[in-house]
Amino acid sequence: MDKQRTLDEVGEFGLIDILTKNFNTTKSTIKGIGDDCAVLEYSADEYQLVTTDFLLEGIHFDLVYTPLKHIGYKAVVAGISDIYAMNGTPKQIMVSIAVSAKFSVNALEQLYDGIRTACQNYKIELIGGDTSASMTGLAINITAMGTVGKDKITYRSGAKVTDLICVSGDLGGAYAGLQVLQREKAVYNQNKDSQPKLAGYEYVLQRILKPEARFDIVDKLKENNIVPTSMIDITDGLSSELFHICFDSGVGCKIYEERVPINEETGTVCAEFNLEPIIPALHGGEDYELLFTVPLSAYEAIKKIKDVAVIGNVVEKEKGLGMISRSGDFIHIKAQGWNTSEKR
Ligand code: ADP
Ligand code: MG
Repeated sequence: MDKQRTLDEVGEFGLIDILTKNFNTTKSTIKGIGDDCAVLEYSADEYQLVTTDFLLEGIHFDLVYTPLKHIGYKAVVAGISDIYAMNGTPKQIMVSIAVSAKFSVNALEQLYDGIRTACQNYKIELIGGDTSASMTGLAINITAMGTVGKDKITYRSGAKVTDLICVSGDLGGAYAGLQVLQREKAVYNQNKDSQPKLAGYEYVLQRILKPEARFDIVDKLKENNIVPTSMIDITDGLSSELFHICFDSGVGCKIYEERVPINEETGTVCAEFNLEPIIPALHGGEDYELLFTVPLSAYEAIKKIKDVAVIGNVVEKEKGLGMISRSGDFIHIKAQGWNTSEKR
């Protein structure tokens, strides 16, 4: 008989594989488990997209330095980012909360202020949810729904050898912002009269506290008639998402360190913390940017889209996942932000 495996041994994705291996789907489910969203039959020319995400106090957010309004906003952004990652358009969300007695009505109204602001900014509707008591703080679950044209849908699995690998925005900023917040929290814990020093860190703080989902990139791709061959949103860090795309597409990749987009302020903050900026870009996560691949023939069109960087290209599976460093060395990409499963 199997010895009792621990959660640590199997990792997050190993656990999902183990728990879900004996479930099947039928015809109206186009794609079940395994991508950013489930894909369901919807109309003659569109699919329905559905995705769900948890945010837990103490795991995903720290109330010491995160206003509830921001938590509400970010919860919605995290949910709909997965819809954009399928090249789709979010339409509705359902929000479930579990709340401990320490929260006042006013505090929860602030949470919903953030949720409402996000609904307005992204033109989506709150259509339901659930409310429960909790023993240990705040838990938020967001289910997001949307649609995508059948000719536009983009899975993680379609990357082809020679495709260009593209990233929106810049990476590592959210991790850098988190370092600043955690440092200031530690200072505050030492001296409750101290004021946090946050001036000069505006960009990285915005990246961790008020991230945005990249609907503009999905729009620009559409305008330029580009349907990516694969796409995923960057929640666990570039390396982890490259692993997902490469594994699901049966390919390898070669990226160039010097092309990975990193904001100047992120670089400055990393220097303060003695960190090579490429490390949080590869392994930091929570940037909510899009990683996607396009055919080589789309190069001229993709170059014209502001805020998209071509960071490398797709190679044969046998070549593995690699990064050419600034000094020209080949570095095997390892996914630190990623919980390796036995299957992968
Ligand atoms: P993302 O980071 O894009 O939100 P996840 O890594 O959370 O995606 O999940 C990967 C896939 O596994 C998704 O298709 C998701 O629906 C599925 N999944 C995650 N947890 C469970 C679970 N407990 N039961 C069934 N499916 C799950
Ligand atoms: Mg995702």
